[in-house]
Amino acid sequence: MAVCEQLASHPNIDLETATITGLSRDADRGLWRLESSTGTHTATTVVLAASNSSSAFELSQHLPLKPIRGQVSIAPAQNQSRALKTVICGAGYLAPADEQAAHTFGASYNLDSLSSEVEVQDHQRNIDTLIKTDPTLHSLLGEVKASQLDGRAALRCTSPDYLPLVGPLPVFEDFVENYGGLKRDARADIPLSGSYWPGLYVHCGLGSRGFTYAPLGAEILASYICGEAPVLPNDLQKALNPARFIIRDLKRKRI
Ligand SMILES: Cc1cc2nc3c(=O)[nH]c(=O)nc-3n(C[C@H](O)[C@H](O)[C@H](O)COP(=O)(O)OP(=O)(O)OC[C@H]3O[C@@H](n4cnc5c(N)ncnc54)[C@H](O)[C@@H]3O)c2cc1C
Repeated sequence: MAVCEQLASHPNIDLETATITGLSRDADRGLWRLESSTGTHTATTVVLAASNSSSAFELSQHLPLKPIRGQVSIAPAQNQSRALKTVICGAGYLAPADEQAAHTFGASYNLDSLSSEVEVQDHQRNIDTLIKTDPTLHSLLGEVKASQLDGRAALRCTSPDYLPLVGPLPVFEDFVENYGGLKRDARADIPLSGSYWPGLYVHCGLGSRGFTYAPLGAEILASYICGEAPVLPNDLQKALNPARFIIRDLKRKRI
């Protein structure tokens, strides 16, 4: 949170917060209309960066986002654990003690639950994973018991190929019509440019790697929005294109 607040404190950034419940195009004025409980907001450029809720709008409901629950465990530092100065990663990870003298370790993966409640069984999974990573790390934390740990749980946002979705939002119906030939021949070469909503972009599906992907994703979006040269080689940029799942599903005759 502190990192986001620091980044958003730039003099060219005005921060307004609201839960957006509706998104529509005012084609005459070339604007996007965003509805919220505080009123209607308009913008020429909109980025859907709302994690799993990025597909909550009619125009984006085709995005195949998959939530995966995760939980981190928090344990009080012990005399011997305070010497830890860096994050140790393996099957799981253990972070050095923070200002509150607490270590974070984890994180669990759970496909069967969409709950954001902290659960004892996930603490136990994190303890088991820490032991698997290195039993010494576990012993640093003393007699740690799942039922006594603090924690934080949330839903990651993933895509079917576990790569992020970064780029312009495709016009679903146009893709289905223009590339319909892929249903007959998945290898067909269809020399048409993709059809995308003007000024509407997506940045989601960062999975477990938000801290690594987000700066690159932001740079890619900035290049799209400002009409600059692509940031990545064509094949990598395509691998992140939000339209890739429409093409995949046409080839597999799922649409
Ligand atoms: C337990 C756990 C541990 C993790 N550990 C790591 C880690 O060690 N390293 C790492 O890199 N990543 C980690 N991740 C993943 C990381 O948290 C995500 O990749 C990252 O937060 C994704 O960023 P985001 O901005 O796409 O989504 P989020 O951080 O989820 O932000 C989405 C935002 O959209 C807002 N929003 C949603 N709907 C609306 C709406 N309708 N209107 C307005 N706003 C809306 C939400 O309020 C939220 O602020 C972890 C995730 C979990 C669950």
